[in-house]
Amino acid sequence: MRVDVVSIFPSYFDGLELSLLGKARASGILELRVHDLRDWTSDRHRTVDDTPYGGGAGMVMKPEPWGLALDELTSDAGGDAPTIIFPSPAGEVFRQATARQLAVREHLIIGCGRYEGIDERVFEYAATLGEVRLMSLGDYVLNGGEVAAMAMIEAVGRLIPGVVGNPESLVEESHEDGLLEYPSYTKPSTWRERAVPDVLLSGNHGAIVSWRREQQIERTRTRRPDLLPE
Ligand code: SAM
Repeated sequence: MRVDVVSIFPSYFDGLELSLLGKARASGILELRVHDLRDWTSDRHRTVDDTPYGGGAGMVMKPEPWGLALDELTSDAGGDAPTIIFPSPAGEVFRQATARQLAVREHLIIGCGRYEGIDERVFEYAATLGEVRLMSLGDYVLNGGEVAAMAMIEAVGRLIPGVVGNPESLVEESHEDGLLEYPSYTKPSTWRERAVPDVLLSGNHGAIVSWRREQQIERTRTRRPDLLPE
């Protein structure tokens, strides 16, 4: 998979050179390219923002550098039209199911907004070049799209075959089957007077499966009842 990220703070993404995604990049499973939006400006100050039409607080990202960036990044991709993601608190909420959909795409482009966001016409123009999705990490406001983009890249990247060593570990996780994951324990069996539940030491596979399922349902009911059907 190829992922192009456009940001005015490319060094945010240095962390994606670490751990599993770093290995996936080194082995070529994930081709992640991070671009500085200012490289598509032409004035001396490399300006990417301007005052909003209609007045109001803050600045808005200018359309011209975004247009040039999108033209260039979509011109040499080949294959299917890319999915162009703009992180936005006003977008659809990014979920595990979204990560699954995106993990089978050949080419993602992620445009990170700053200030009050990006000129609305950029989204309309981007829709002529690929599938556009505005995506929110959750119902709160960040300073920029970089942290959201990193979360999305990690959630999508770990679903690409070969990135996580044991693919079974991906199936048993929270949100994969609509429920939260069951509690996990490791050695020692007693720690600071807290014992691991007996069933996990019983060797009875059927009983362990049932217990874990009950725990999933109970946890989801108490912590995230909104995930359960009516
Ligand atoms: N004025 C915008 C609004 O109220 O919808 C918020 C702009 S925010 C300060 C700047 C940028 O941060 C956005 O363009 C977006 O890229 C990113 N951002 C902020 N909150 C986000 C969230 N919850 N999910 C994804 N991206 C977010």
